[in-house]
Amino acid sequence: TRAADPGDDVAARRADAMGGTVAPLFYDRPLQIVSGEGAWLTEASGRRFLDAYNNVAVVGHAEPTVVRRVSRQLGRLNTHSRYLHPEVVELAERLVATMPAGLDTVLFTTSGTEANELAWRLATEVTGGTGALIVEHSYHGTTRWMADLSSNEWPPGHLPEAVGTFRAPIAGRDLGVEATTAMVRAAAQEVAARGHRPALLLADSGFTSEGVHDAPASYVEGLLAGAHAEGALYLADEVQIGYGRTGPGLWRVAQSGVVPDLVTLGKPMGAGYPIGAVVTRREIVDRFAERWEYFSTFAATPAAAAAGNAVLDVLEDRRLPERALVTGAHLAERLRDLSAATDVLGDVRAMGLVAGIDVVDRPTAHRLLQALVAQGALAGLTGPRGDVLKVRPPLVWDETHVDHFVDSLARAVDDLSVAR
Ligand code: PMP
Repeated sequence: TRAADPGDDVAARRADAMGGTVAPLFYDRPLQIVSGEGAWLTEASGRRFLDAYNNVAVVGHAEPTVVRRVSRQLGRLNTHSRYLHPEVVELAERLVATMPAGLDTVLFTTSGTEANELAWRLATEVTGGTGALIVEHSYHGTTRWMADLSSNEWPPGHLPEAVGTFRAPIAGRDLGVEATTAMVRAAAQEVAARGHRPALLLADSGFTSEGVHDAPASYVEGLLAGAHAEGALYLADEVQIGYGRTGPGLWRVAQSGVVPDLVTLGKPMGAGYPIGAVVTRREIVDRFAERWEYFSTFAATPAAAAAGNAVLDVLEDRRLPERALVTGAHLAERLRDLSAATDVLGDVRAMGLVAGIDVVDRPTAHRLLQALVAQGALAGLTGPRGDVLKVRPPLVWDETHVDHFVDSLARAVDDLSVAR
C-alpha cells in the first residue's frame, strides 16, 4: 500500500477504479482524512478540521472505550451470528430498555438500509399490503425497494406505483392531528387508485433529508393514526436522528410521545462498525416467523455488538444526550444571531445537536460549504433543493466547538461577499 500523501493521486485512482460520478465524495476538493480524535479530523496534509457533520462518530472519533472493547473482541473471536453470544444478547436487551413500552424484540442487520428493508418485509407479511407511504424528499436506503421509498433520490419521472407521498412538517405550522391524518389517508387513496394497499408508513423522525424539521407531536400522532386507519404499520426511521442527538430518551419518536410499530437504527450504532437493527413488537415478528426465517451473516457479530454496547456505555457515562440539549441550545442561538446579521442565511431549524440553516439559494449554499471547509469546519447540505446547510456533529461537542464552528461559518459568509 502507498503512504497517505496529500500530493498523491488518490482522487484520480479512485475515479479510475471506483467509478467517477456514481459514488460522489463530499466537497469540491475531496478530503483524505487519516485520523480523528473526539470532534476533530486530521487530513493527510496534517491540517485539522472541526467535524460538524459526522453522526457515525456520535461518541467522537477513535473513542477509547469503543476502540478497546472492539479490539479486545476482535482478538478473541469474530464470526457469524449463529452462535450464542452474551454480548449480542446484552445489546438487544439494552436497546429494548430504551424503547417505548411494547417494542420488545430486536432483529439485527448490518446497515440502516437493511433495517428498513427488513421492516418493510415484516410489514408486507403482517398486513398483506403491497404499498408504502413516505414523506416527500425522504431518504431510507439503497436497495431496490428502499430506492423506491427514497423520494429525495428519485430521478425525474421516477414515480413508483406502489408508493404514495405526503408533506413533511412545515416550520411554525401545526396542522393538528386530524388534518395530518387526512393528509396521510389522501396519499393512501392515490396508492389505492394504482392497485395497492399500504403496508407501511416510513418517516425519518428528524425529517433530515427533507431539510431538518422539528415535527410537532400532533404531526407524528397524525402519521400514526393515518397509517393505522389505512391498515399500515408505522416505522420510525431513527437511523440518522436517533442515539441521543435530540436529548435523553435517545429516540426522537419517543420524545414526541408516540409509540410506533417499528423503529430502525443504524449509523451511530457501532461507531463505524457496521450494525443496524429493527425494534418491534413480538407479535409482528411471530407472525413473520410463521412462514419465514431471518438470518444475516454479519448482523451483530460479537465485535459489532461490542461496539454497540460500548457506544451505549459512552452515551450513558458521559451523559452525551443531556449535553446535546445544552450545547444544541447554544448552537441554535448563535446560528440565529448569525443569520439575522446576513442576507445569505435564512431560517434556522434545530433540535438538540442537529440544525438545518436555509441558505439563500443552491449555488450560494454550494459555495458557502466550500468556503466553510476552507475555514476548517466540515458540514453538509440537505433538503429538497440542496440549499439547507446541515450541522450534525458528534455529541462530544461543547460550547467551545459551537463557537469555533459559528465563527468559521461567519468567516465563510464574509468570504462569499468578498468573492462576489
Ligand atoms: N435512513 C435514514 C434516515 C438515513 O439517513 C440513512 C443513511 N443516510 C439510511 C436510512 C440508510 O442507512 P445506510 O446508509 O446505513 O444503509
